Amino acid sequence: MDERVLKWVTAFMALLTVTVCVSLFFFPELHERSVLAAENRLLREQMYAGAENAAVEQKPEEIVEQTDDKDAQLKIELPEGIGLSDLTIENYYLTQDVYIRIPKAEEDYFSHYSVQGSCNHISAISYYQEKEEGVIVLGLDRVYELQEDYQNGNLYLNFLEPHEVYDKVVVVDAGHGGRAPGASKMGISEKDIDLAILLELKAVMEESPGNIGVYYTRTDDSNPTLDQRVQLANKVDADLFISIHNNSTATGKFSNVSGTEVLFDEADDSELSSRRFAQICLEQVTAATGSSSRGLLEGDSIYIIRTSEVPVALIEVGFMTNRQELELLNSQEYQRKAAEGIYAAIEQAFAEGY
Ligand SMILES: [Zn+2]
Repeated sequence: MDERVLKWVTAFMALLTVTVCVSLFFFPELHERSVLAAENRLLREQMYAGAENAAVEQKPEEIVEQTDDKDAQLKIELPEGIGLSDLTIENYYLTQDVYIRIPKAEEDYFSHYSVQGSCNHISAISYYQEKEEGVIVLGLDRVYELQEDYQNGNLYLNFLEPHEVYDKVVVVDAGHGGRAPGASKMGISEKDIDLAILLELKAVMEESPGNIGVYYTRTDDSNPTLDQRVQLANKVDADLFISIHNNSTATGKFSNVSGTEVLFDEADDSELSSRRFAQICLEQVTAATGSSSRGLLEGDSIYIIRTSEVPVALIEVGFMTNRQELELLNSQEYQRKAAEGIYAAIEQAFAEGY
């Protein structure tokens, strides 16, 4: 090759290297942004799915007649003959939407029946008809427990913060779900093991004597958006936020690497920190399962960790790329042990003042 061609080839290779390095540097950010954009699109699509007549969203101030009712925050007039037992009231914590299904309701509900009270905590109101029912949808600014009452043809609703109802509040997340399987090995998907451990933990929590409110991001094969998951923790003002995952090596090939890792929010420098809670989870889960401790990892590159406003621990229970550990992770006995370890971590964290 003559010297001039060689020079050009060298210059071209150098430019290529710089380009690749620069795009690799920005790629994680770009990828995350496109994931969030897709999630938002999905959310909008879900909002109107299932409605025969698309819900028309209105400003709460246009619907709610401001009164200082001492009985409840909201008083909704019902059609004649309709009582509390005829209504179906669904509180979707994950999206902070409340659906009130009313039989025999008219097409234009709010021009026939009054809604009185205060717009506090209500960010949107919409109404649509589905078969014989009218559906009022309240969009809330945070997660609330509903207190329902009925008097003289009116539905009374109060919105209670989880901490007004429970002594302690925990949010538990199972990684991935739906069409996002996570790690996959030998026909076993991480999403299913994550969920199985969560359901074991749910069973343990239900036996727990304490007045602990537990909110789950999913209890089936659904795939909430990353933002929905972390906002559930933020909007219940959780004392603890736990995300259950399982690991694989970078290549995804079987290897000897095994054990438990816990990721934490290194930006959280509060006294009851994410790091300390992650340490408790690591110790309790390894003690319960007998798996080896691979230590703590800084997790701020992960959206739900970085965005969490409450103490968060993301537990990578074990490695699906280790044959022995995969077999354990796939067994109910081991899933139960992992769940008992997580429960012990929750108890210890509360004992330490979380
Ligand atoms: Zn995962």
